[in-house]
Amino acid sequence: MKFELPKLEYAYDSLEPFIDEATMKIHHDKHHQAYTDKLNVALEKHPELKIRDAEELLKNLKQVPEDIRTAIRNNGGGYVNHNFFWEILKKDVKIKGKIKQEIEKRFGSFEKFKEEFTNAAIGLFGSGWAWLVVNNGKLEITTTPNQDSPISEGKIPLLTIDVWEHAYYLKYQNRRADYVAAFFNVINWEKVEDNFVKSIMKGGNK
Ligand code: MN
Repeated sequence: MKFELPKLEYAYDSLEPFIDEATMKIHHDKHHQAYTDKLNVALEKHPELKIRDAEELLKNLKQVPEDIRTAIRNNGGGYVNHNFFWEILKKDVKIKGKIKQEIEKRFGSFEKFKEEFTNAAIGLFGSGWAWLVVNNGKLEITTTPNQDSPISEGKIPLLTIDVWEHAYYLKYQNRRADYVAAFFNVINWEKVEDNFVKSIMKGGNK
């Protein structure tokens, strides 16, 4: 099977002024497309692989044939991480529900969570992602380098920010901190709640 670049379910300019239209266009149409294409090229070498979804590859990286493992890690990761990222972006969504309660319980307050998440995103050296995940039943803030995914470590992602320079350089140049601050205005908390509730159903949360 071939993986396809999913269409963005909103307009490129709908996250303005926090994430600009030009960045969204290049990020989705060029960068995400490139990960998708390279993932397909890598998989052509092993047509025997029966894959239901790309997440499955990342969950079981060790079972991926060695000659394409790095390509899958990088491009499968790039494919899956960006699919996930687009879905948790939306303007004007207030945090509420179970995820709000759990964040307050785990981090003390939303502000504390924001501070810790921001520090993780700013402090990550080089390219990668900062995440809110469920790990062994508990909320955790973590980072991954490059296009690594927390699902390769058995964690369940709830929320993420892409801190590759391609995600913010056009508008924010070297000011990653400004981009991370802006990101807090475009978190789709309804989707994050959804991800959290699903993680509970999977038994990820105790
Ligand atoms: Mn990206």
